[in-house]
Amino acid sequence: MTLRSHEPAGYDCPFCRMQSGLFDEHNQPSDVVAVAPHAYARIAPKWWPGNPGAVLVVSRAHHENLYTLPPEMGHAVWDLVQEVAVAIRATYPCEGVSIRQHNEPAGDQDVWHLHVHVFPRSVDDRLYERHREATWVALEERVPYADLLAGHLKRPRTFDGAATADRPCGR
Ligand SMILES: [Zn+2]
Repeated sequence: MTLRSHEPAGYDCPFCRMQSGLFDEHNQPSDVVAVAPHAYARIAPKWWPGNPGAVLVVSRAHHENLYTLPPEMGHAVWDLVQEVAVAIRATYPCEGVSIRQHNEPAGDQDVWHLHVHVFPRSVDDRLYERHREATWVALEERVPYADLLAGHLKRPRTFDGAATADRPCGR
């Protein structure tokens, strides 16, 4: 097996942009729900129809996928995934939580910076049958979910407020 990068040359990484204070309609400061030294959590900019308020947990440093993620980053991402899962279950009107993590185009990866999806689940939401139905979500729909999770997690919501040993890619 040969591992190769799929990230285009000069890739303008949205998850690194946020950490650098560069925002757009799909990536706003209010989307950030928790910042830890090696990982952060944000409301996903796209939701599947039956899973509103889904979250992405992202490594602070830029690594394309799971294959080359340094273990300490992977552990930090996993720890924050667990915190977010508990917060979702505690604050959303859902009945369960699922996670997914995609690598390479064949694995449905479409942002070239490692992230884990954390989905609120409800009976009969058909998450795995509706993979092509994710759509962009307006900011005003994202904000209430972000505030619920942030209120439970009680971590910094800005990158200035959480010390890190890492720097995002090339910025
Ligand atoms: Zn990045």
